[in-house]
Amino acid sequence: MSYTEDRSAWFEGQGLWQHVPTADWQDWTWQLKNRITTVEQLERYMTLTAEEKAGCAFANHKLALAITPYFFNLIDRHDPECPVRRQVIPRAGEMVFSEGEMLDSLGEDAHSPVPGLVHRYPDRVLFLVTDRCASYCRYCTRSRLVSNAQDYNFHPEHEQGLRYIEAHPEVRDVLLSGGDPLLLSDKKLEHLLARLREIKHVEFIRIGSRIPVFLPQRITPELCEVFKKYGPVWMSIHVNHPKECTADLKAACERLAFAGVPLGNQSVLLRGVNDDAEVMKALVHRLLRMRVRPYYLYQMDLITGGAHFKVDVRKGMEIIKALRGHTTGYGVPQYVIDAPGGGGKVPINPEYIEQITDDEVVMRNYEGEVFRYPLHARPLKTADGAPLPAQPIADVTVR
Ligand SMILES: *Cc1c(COP(=O)(O)O)cnc(C)c1O
Ligand code: SF4
Repeated sequence: MSYTEDRSAWFEGQGLWQHVPTADWQDWTWQLKNRITTVEQLERYMTLTAEEKAGCAFANHKLALAITPYFFNLIDRHDPECPVRRQVIPRAGEMVFSEGEMLDSLGEDAHSPVPGLVHRYPDRVLFLVTDRCASYCRYCTRSRLVSNAQDYNFHPEHEQGLRYIEAHPEVRDVLLSGGDPLLLSDKKLEHLLARLREIKHVEFIRIGSRIPVFLPQRITPELCEVFKKYGPVWMSIHVNHPKECTADLKAACERLAFAGVPLGNQSVLLRGVNDDAEVMKALVHRLLRMRVRPYYLYQMDLITGGAHFKVDVRKGMEIIKALRGHTTGYGVPQYVIDAPGGGGKVPINPEYIEQITDDEVVMRNYEGEVFRYPLHARPLKTADGAPLPAQPIADVTVR
């Protein structure tokens, strides 16, 4: 596994597309136009397993197949278990629906006061501004909305959402997501950001996007100018495996950071992709080197046909435990479960506390050693130095 061993290797170049002029390769619209979207195109470049063929035949009924040439280069075409391959090439497992799975597992539609806007937390909203992505993740929570699955053009105007935010002064934080907001044109994004900036009570704007990962060419100097002009705009990118941290992604993150965009990362814990402490450690180290702070690690939502990606929550906790204390604190994401039905994100933390009494906290450190922290300071002397009788702990009022 060279990505964990060779810490200096950052994939770069045009891979399978050497023959394409560099100017085209670096043009994000070229990348979009030349996406791999059919089984025939896939098979031109690689041999699919029977499982993948079956998945592809089913894919367009659920979530479209699309992979940018840039991202396709990161797939190991000779390894069916390649962690990048699993994320974007459909598998037969997608056809298996299991108990408890739902199309709208987070109850987003129920918390949606106007189409395309989810208001679940008191002071912030999720604003779904497009239904398109540059490539499609096979474990996508919003497969009911993205890739035109329902065959309608999703909220192209955003007016209703903007008016809702204007009318709700409690909304101080707007999270633009989708689909992928960075697929909107610079002009459209600029318009959206300008409108949001005009709303006095909106203090915080952020964008959730996998574009830097699928299509780093989209992070143009012109786009960065928009962020400079309407900033601060924060951004959460979505990287799951160290192999996705390429020289191009690193450069895109640098352009964003230099435009004043603070960067975070959200990963989804996926079987066969990143359900391994060493892989996760290599990932967070690379993220930090790209100026990206790991933000959330998500337990996978209960999406239909997602069971083949599911990882035991105890494994997730073990991974977090293997990071905390063992490596840079900035590199440890918060592990969460987005509670099914719309309960919001619930933090899942490994247990370090053995016991808390009125007297003390008994805890274990990252190495498993036990430590005690006294809860009440019991004065031994008065201010002028006279000794005090020992104070029984029961006299101390616990607030
Ligand atoms: C995740 C999410 C947010 C943002 O949550 P933070 O913890 O503030 O990052 C907001 N609204 C919805 C509906 C969400 O799912
Ligand atoms: S980028 Fe996000 S919204 Fe788009 S397919 Fe992937 S998980 Fe879904």
